Amino acid sequence: MKVSEVFETMDYGPAPESPAAANAWLEDHERRFGLFINNEWVFPEEAEFYASYDPAKGEKMADTVQAGQEEVDAAVGAARKAFKSWSKTPGKTRARYLYAIARNIQKHHRLLAVLESMDNGKPIRESRDIDVPLLARHFYYHAGWAQLMESELSDYQPVGVVGQIIPWNFPLLMLAWKIAPAIAMGNTVVLKPASYTRLTALLFAEVVAEAGLPPGVVNVITGSSRAGSMIVTHQDVDKIAFTGSTEVGRILRRQTAGSGKKLSLELGGKSPFIVFDDADLDSAVEGVVDAIWFNQGQVCCAGSRLLVQEDVADRFLDKLKARMEHMRVGDPLDKCIDMGAIVDQTQWDTVDGWVKTGVSEGGDLFQPDIELPEKGLFYKPTLICNLDPAAEVVQEEIFGPVLVSLTFRSPAEAIALANNTRYGLAASVWSDNINLALDVASKVKAGSLWVNCTNLFDAASGFGGYRESGFGREGGKEGLFEYLGPTWQKRPRPDFEAPEDGEDISTWGTTTPARPTLPDDGNGRGSEKELPSVDRTPKMYIGGKQARPDGHYTRAILGPKGEIVGQVGDGNRKDIRNAVEAAHAAHLAKPGWAMRHGYNRSQILYFIGENLDARAEEFTHRIRAMTGRSEKSSKQEVDLSVERLFTYASWADKFGGSVQETTLRGITVAVNEPIGVLGIACPDEYPLLGFVSLMAPAIARGNTVVMIPSEKHPLSATDFYQVLDTSDVPGGVVNIVTGDRDHLTKTLIQHEDVDGVWYFGTARGSYHVEYESAANMKRTWAGYGLARDWTNPAQGAGHEFLHEAIQVKNIWVPTGE
Ligand code: NAP
Repeated sequence: MKVSEVFETMDYGPAPESPAAANAWLEDHERRFGLFINNEWVFPEEAEFYASYDPAKGEKMADTVQAGQEEVDAAVGAARKAFKSWSKTPGKTRARYLYAIARNIQKHHRLLAVLESMDNGKPIRESRDIDVPLLARHFYYHAGWAQLMESELSDYQPVGVVGQIIPWNFPLLMLAWKIAPAIAMGNTVVLKPASYTRLTALLFAEVVAEAGLPPGVVNVITGSSRAGSMIVTHQDVDKIAFTGSTEVGRILRRQTAGSGKKLSLELGGKSPFIVFDDADLDSAVEGVVDAIWFNQGQVCCAGSRLLVQEDVADRFLDKLKARMEHMRVGDPLDKCIDMGAIVDQTQWDTVDGWVKTGVSEGGDLFQPDIELPEKGLFYKPTLICNLDPAAEVVQEEIFGPVLVSLTFRSPAEAIALANNTRYGLAASVWSDNINLALDVASKVKAGSLWVNCTNLFDAASGFGGYRESGFGREGGKEGLFEYLGPTWQKRPRPDFEAPEDGEDISTWGTTTPARPTLPDDGNGRGSEKELPSVDRTPKMYIGGKQARPDGHYTRAILGPKGEIVGQVGDGNRKDIRNAVEAAHAAHLAKPGWAMRHGYNRSQILYFIGENLDARAEEFTHRIRAMTGRSEKSSKQEVDLSVERLFTYASWADKFGGSVQETTLRGITVAVNEPIGVLGIACPDEYPLLGFVSLMAPAIARGNTVVMIPSEKHPLSATDFYQVLDTSDVPGGVVNIVTGDRDHLTKTLIQHEDVDGVWYFGTARGSYHVEYESAANMKRTWAGYGLARDWTNPAQGAGHEFLHEAIQVKNIWVPTGE
């Protein structure tokens, strides 16, 4: 027998990891767990219990409590009490605790990994080499940020009590992504693990207590989605951090709407894996294996949509199928297997249902001829080819080991197909042409972009989505802001009660009738002695041109004594739609506003400032006439507006991103990308300064905007378009639609092509904006009708505004070796 034949016939022997230590830990607890509150096990009287199973063996592992309202209250109460001292504990002291937790994780590395594999069904190779090392890494990394917080984040404070809800696919890792930044920044936590995988979160709670963390800082409660909902709606919870499905994310967005609670959502995905014909195909095949069959495909950022360039598609798919024939599916505790068990029978059925759908949609099914264990929830790696891009299995997240494959001809088609999804979590691009790969990486809309690599994660790089994959980042400096608020503002508590479910909410945003204009305003118009002054009714400003309101209505603008000081167009849905179209065109034009370099955008912002300054007197009079404020105060508003334009002209080329210091040998670049088309409803106080303070950061960072000026005092905004006209602002970058603020905002928030809405109207309007944003997960920023001093640079300008204007994309580029 030749050596090559020996290699071909040789099989792997089993290399089992012992479950003894994990079983001993379960036995120590008599396989029955309470809730972990205040560093103690709490067994509620008459508690209901829920059974946890090992999905690979089908054996029951333990019982855990189903928390109810009383237990949720107790956990939130413990966290609130602990917050008082923990938030005041110096950063360097908190750092010591996080460091101790990281060390303790490493001490219990093997136990955590084995229990994770038993509870979830994932291969021990992954839990041992990826999940648990990253768990420790997150605590080390964030220990560093706790140490540095006072010097590096001095304008920020912790948010308060944080409710954290996580899924079952990476129970430990998801918990680390949430708990580490939260407690590093001085918050306290109530965490609920997913029902299928509760055990490692409970083990972790013990590990944390053993490390000496003060009671109440981290509380872990088990329970169903009902318990999750109780956390979300709890009055004393200040922020919700959620990872899970987009469907549940939408529910949470609606439940927290208008409450002033901070929210971050890490949701589902359908990430493209793009292979160009010049890629190293063998490496790309290995990449696919990692992208879709890592963790049985139960990965939010799984490369589940394979896009292969047509001329190499057959060759590539042949190689992939051959590789699939060598995959080993089996006991998660066997160190030699590639894929373990699906987490639960329900999930197995869902996956299988999707595969059947794929076949019924005309797809060609391929599953390798490999053996699966007789018992347990195992599923073969699956490939479905020749589907239509609109097929349901191509569009929907399957969350299992199922890959769909499409082909493309040109880079432009690859980008179009990649972006043809409502999600935007991650993408992987394979090409030996670095120009092509980076160009595609910059054009695919997703939070993580891997060039010639896939599924790379590190605590130093933020992870999170675009579009319906959610918002907020976990990891990196950018992730810290999810757990921080500006020092000047306590948690907003809006003066508005959300309507009960089912209550009619349609009255919001119905237009108030425009005030009729009097024929003679008493200022001489129509008088016989003098010539009447030339009538000037400001119009809308859309696509760089003045536009009459579609409905041909105007509204009278009254001064402080009720006198008419001017008229503006009364905008309607059509005007908003036209403005959104113009904003999109400005975004997509070549070069679109976002593609212009920061220097160019800064020059234009300086120019706007210069031209506003030249007309300071006119604007001063206008503000005075509308508001009745003194000349000094009105002039100050104009001067501050000019200053603010200069501030954001400065920021236009200084907030582009950074190189992240991850564990990758190569480059991980965090790019601060614009959100896209933003709709902005301005406050009534400071009609010019409020308008400028919101418009300037948005356009400085490459967004195009539809501005709804102050409803009460819109005239300085309509004067402003003359300034824009003389300042080289490309048409469509800034669009201005006047009228009823809430009526216009309603159209904006419901518009599918608007990427984000900033709303500085009432508390009630803020509620509706947040509630309606859930339809397609728009980014929102609401003022909740609370006072903000726009003249104070800490409140009216700065990082908070810049952060709201961007979303971070991390591009990972390995550099070899
Ligand atoms: P899920 O059904 O949305 O559940 C996630 C968590 O939310 C669980 O703890 C669940 O509790 C809880 N929950 C369910 N309904 C709730 C409600 N109405 N109110 C409050 N909490 C509620 O998601 P999953 O099936 O566990 O996880 C899979 C999903 O997570 C996939 O879509 C995946 O893409 C996504 N994911 C995203 C990321 C990311 O970073 N973007 C990472 C991992 C996973 P129970 O388990 O008790 O029902």
